[in-house]
Amino acid sequence: MLSGKTAIVTGGSRGIGAACARKLASLGADIAVIYAGIAEKAAEVCTACEAFGNRARAYQCDVADFDAVKQTVAAVRAELGSVDILVNSAGITRDGLVAAMREADFDAVIDTNLKGTFNMIRHCARLFLRTGHGRIVNISSVAGVIGNAGQANYAASKAGVIGLTKSVARELAPKGITCNAVAPGFVATDMTAALALSDEQLRAAVPLGRMARPEEIADAVAFLAQSDYITGQVLCVDGGIAI
Ligand code: NAP
Repeated sequence: MLSGKTAIVTGGSRGIGAACARKLASLGADIAVIYAGIAEKAAEVCTACEAFGNRARAYQCDVADFDAVKQTVAAVRAELGSVDILVNSAGITRDGLVAAMREADFDAVIDTNLKGTFNMIRHCARLFLRTGHGRIVNISSVAGVIGNAGQANYAASKAGVIGLTKSVARELAPKGITCNAVAPGFVATDMTAALALSDEQLRAAVPLGRMARPEEIADAVAFLAQSDYITGQVLCVDGGIAI
């Protein structure tokens, strides 16, 4: 159980992040939902988390902005008292074939997915080091494990998250702080809605033949957030895509 703990969930307003926020709240944690721009969605998630009897607050913050992240982490600590768990789920796609990919689309994906994850870890790590406790779970992707045509920018950002995860895990392990990654395959969220994959396409791409529900990713995140002895791991929750 996570009573008395505070979890920051980036991208907590929608999709996988929202499911993680609800799951961690159901286990007793207070929740800080970080979102980019859709305040109504963040407020809805906070209401759902509060229904478990815990505190929840929403914070608008561009995770790619180093100084904004610093201020937001400080605000969470001031309002909720501590930070014990960090879940990095904020992410975007700007898909395209590499030979035609715009520089801005490469940069935007790296800035949000990889640098955003670094920014959050960078500022939370200082708190974790002070308390001698911390759990970090980063949402990578199966694309970062095996690559994906049409997603060179996204796959690079998610492979970067895996390198970041393993390095942070090694660096902070002596202080009792863990850092792991979850690598989902296809998950039914706004991010994949535009793909409009048919059942036949899903059966061809995914050994288990279907998309994941966001809650199935959140279960893995909650497992890692509660483990004292797993660190530096990448848990593929992908229906078998990466086998
Ligand atoms: P989603 O439904 O599109 O939600 C994205 C979330 O990230 C939203 O809460 C959004 O906030 C937030 N966000 C985006 N840019 C941000 C920024 N610069 N600063 C702060 N917050 C930002 O995405 P999802 O499908 O849940 O994906 C969550 C994570 O899982 C991502 O890292 C994604 O790459 C990864 N993933 C997803 C899948 C999949 O199939 N869905 C598979 C593998 C990995 P607003 O609501 O304010 O816009």
